[in-house]
Amino acid sequence: MSDTYDVLIIGGGINGCSTALELARRGARVALVEKDNIGDGPTGRSSAIIRQHYSNELTARMAHYSLGVFQEFEERVGGECGFRRTGFLALVAAADRAGLEANVALQRGVGIRTELLPAEALREIMPGMATADLVAAAWEEDSGYADPYLTVNAYAAAARRAGVRVLTNTAVTDVTQHAGRVTGVETTAGRLGAAAVVNCAGPWGARVARMAGLEIPLNACRVQVSFFKRPPGEETVHPVVVDFGQATYFRSETGGLTLVGLVDPAEANAIVDPDRYDESVDTDFILDTGERLIRRYPAMERSASAGGYAALYDVTPDWHVIIDEAPPGSGFFLCCGSSGHGFKLGPAVGRLTAERVLGVADPLFPAHLFRLGRFAEGDPVRGRYAYSIAG
Ligand SMILES: Cc1cc2nc3c(=O)[nH]c(=O)nc-3n(C[C@H](O)[C@H](O)[C@H](O)COP(=O)(O)OP(=O)(O)OC[C@H]3O[C@@H](n4cnc5c(N)ncnc54)[C@H](O)[C@@H]3O)c2cc1C
Repeated sequence: MSDTYDVLIIGGGINGCSTALELARRGARVALVEKDNIGDGPTGRSSAIIRQHYSNELTARMAHYSLGVFQEFEERVGGECGFRRTGFLALVAAADRAGLEANVALQRGVGIRTELLPAEALREIMPGMATADLVAAAWEEDSGYADPYLTVNAYAAAARRAGVRVLTNTAVTDVTQHAGRVTGVETTAGRLGAAAVVNCAGPWGARVARMAGLEIPLNACRVQVSFFKRPPGEETVHPVVVDFGQATYFRSETGGLTLVGLVDPAEANAIVDPDRYDESVDTDFILDTGERLIRRYPAMERSASAGGYAALYDVTPDWHVIIDEAPPGSGFFLCCGSSGHGFKLGPAVGRLTAERVLGVADPLFPAHLFRLGRFAEGDPVRGRYAYSIAG
């Protein structure tokens, strides 16, 4: 097999695999290089919540497009993604009411089925919920969650069928360049040539960028997830909830469990070496998330802890992905920094990145919002809430 490609992708998470598939479907010769196995990075440990509630028209459109892919996964990608439609609720107290209303109007404007509910109406959707402190909620009946490991492996299999060479257990060790343009990569299995290289390395994104001589503002941050066994009488699957009052998100998980994580910008402070961090959950985190969950869902007082784990977010200063060619004309592309909310956007990010790499004249999604230069220009992506991944 030839060792020269049109495009080389570094990283076998959802963004790398969806970009590879979209490129191959447009006729590019592509190789994807993953240092471990497909989905072994944060993608495989994702809570994989699929909602469309965003503050920007572009990200809302991308979430809406991606939901369509998850809903019709077998026809549009092939294989299974394990999508479960449970509905999604965003809960706010008084301070965030205006932001919530503006977001719902924005989403409806791009065709998303969502509605604003008064707090009293929430008990019809989730009877066990405590609502006294809430003023309003947004409800998306089409949203839910997927199985991230199934999803990313289905994408990789589809990419292979489309002609992509997928190398696993192979690490990229250097990005080679000549006269200001990339020429390929060095890997633990030898050299691969290409006119374009795409950095989809997630929390290792800054390290891979450095191989091309580029500094990017991206940190690997340790985040945690806990599980609680729902008590007798609460076995029914409940909606996905983002609870801005308690700074948590929670959703049902297989086995009668509820999975809980945080929507707290302070998670960006836990910067770690992505190759050396504690992957177990802290006892304090289980206690803290358990208490927050009980405040919203009092029946969980009778629940039992079922452990948890820690994984990594790849966080940029505005909590949004970087998709750009840097420097311009170099053939080195960035597609990393999806900051803890990139799973649901993966299908759209793959399409956007592929069209950006190929220089498609009329792309479905413009890349400008995600350009690297926004940080130096003082023009970051702005959300309507002070809650990091909720942007
Ligand atoms: C606990 C948790 C919960 C989350 N919950 C949600 C959620 O509910 N909804 C949502 O939308 N998003 C969520 N996310 C975020 C989402 O999972 C990520 O944004 C997304 O999976 C990132 O995908 P990626 O393809 O960019 O990168 P990753 O999955 O990080 O993949 C990068 C890959 O690059 C590989 N790599 C790195 N360096 C090299 C190298 N030198 N050579 C070869 N390969 C290399 C790594 O091994 C890795 O497999 C969550 C994330 C976590 C950790």
